[in-house]
Amino acid sequence: MKSAIVIGAGIVGLATARALAIRGYKVTVFERSQQAVGASVRNFGMVWPIGQPTGELYETALRSRAIWKESCTEAGIWHNENGSLHLAYHDDEWAVLEEFVAENQVLRPAVSLLLKKQVRDKSAVAVLKGLRGALWSSDEIIVDPREAIAKLPAYFTQKYGVEFHFGVAVTEVRTGQVRTGDGRWHEANRVFICSGQDFETLYPQTFASSGITRCKLQMMRTAAQPARLGASLCAGLTLTHYKAFEKLPSLPALRKRFEAEMPEYLKWGIHVLVSQNQFGEATLGDTHEYGLHLDPFDRSELNELVIKYLETFCRLPKPQITETWHGIYAKMKDGKNWFHHEPEPGVTILNGLGGAGMTLSFGLVEEVIGEL
Ligand SMILES: Cc1cc2nc3c(=O)[nH]c(=O)nc-3n(C[C@H](O)[C@H](O)[C@H](O)COP(=O)(O)OP(=O)(O)OC[C@H]3O[C@@H](n4cnc5c(N)ncnc54)[C@H](O)[C@@H]3O)c2cc1C
Repeated sequence: MKSAIVIGAGIVGLATARALAIRGYKVTVFERSQQAVGASVRNFGMVWPIGQPTGELYETALRSRAIWKESCTEAGIWHNENGSLHLAYHDDEWAVLEEFVAENQVLRPAVSLLLKKQVRDKSAVAVLKGLRGALWSSDEIIVDPREAIAKLPAYFTQKYGVEFHFGVAVTEVRTGQVRTGDGRWHEANRVFICSGQDFETLYPQTFASSGITRCKLQMMRTAAQPARLGASLCAGLTLTHYKAFEKLPSLPALRKRFEAEMPEYLKWGIHVLVSQNQFGEATLGDTHEYGLHLDPFDRSELNELVIKYLETFCRLPKPQITETWHGIYAKMKDGKNWFHHEPEPGVTILNGLGGAGMTLSFGLVEEVIGEL
């Protein structure tokens, strides 16, 4: 039987383990923490195809979505197929949405434009005053990342026989072998390194020359809201953030207005998203600070900017913030969507999915491992 070792039990490692096990590999996963605590548990839990450009990446996101749905259903993991709304309050934002829908009428049947009164049916908390309209997309799913990343290992063990070792760091990798912190060597036909933002432990020189960097995001969570909020929400700033909208002719004018009116938002890479978990709590964020050496401490003024913008499009009945944290993901500086590299025969690094790891991982590794 072919065997594989996967290093890291974040979403990339979990998706890799699944894809290998399905293809007949005996899979062992080593995760250095007692439970994964990296980017994969610190995010919004948004499986967000709407952010991906039409074509291959959107198709990859839809493939991921299908795997999330199957896995959550079978493993008893909470998920909500609540779709998303991009709310527009200015003509320049509406122009971007109109162009997006016009361009994608055939290729993205999940999207449509909604007028103010239709928005009310999709969201209990969207600000309607001054609303021009919204982009509705039915593709998006929410999971609770803390629950999902904790429960998927047991499900993959039970369904596919994947073996997990938590609290075990891998300190060295060679073709066909990995060494764990206790000094023991473990053999396998293939090794996959899914180590997230740790670029220093395994193949540090490869990472150093790869063009990968880190991005820190500040996040918040509110008290439980009294009712379901409906669709996940965002507004104009988000249109400048995702590649799906990047090439639309009206985007530069919108960006220019934000540069003039909201320079501090662009400086800190702030755009605001709202998701709601199974307990009713709303997850809010986020900010983006890039670099290999990031400030370990959070800035309350950035959270205040997030809240200020949030209030322009979303009124939560219970806005009290009960938790704040930050997460760090790995991202390519050259605009590539991920880092996929073989530093030695039989050893593959999969990393650098940036802000779309929850959205793309399951679909992406199906493609990567399918090609092996
Ligand atoms: C705040 C925030 C919000 C986000 N929101 C979203 C979202 O809503 N939707 C979306 O699609 N994406 C989102 N993302 C992006 C997504 O979370 C990441 O792309 C994804 O989690 C990266 O997964 P990963 O497995 O590469 O990294 P990680 O989750 O960091 O996992 C890497 C794992 O490898 C382990 N490890 C590292 N080195 C070793 C070693 N030597 N031995 C053993 N174990 C090792 C670590 O302990 C860690 O558990 C967000 C990210 C952040 C930070």
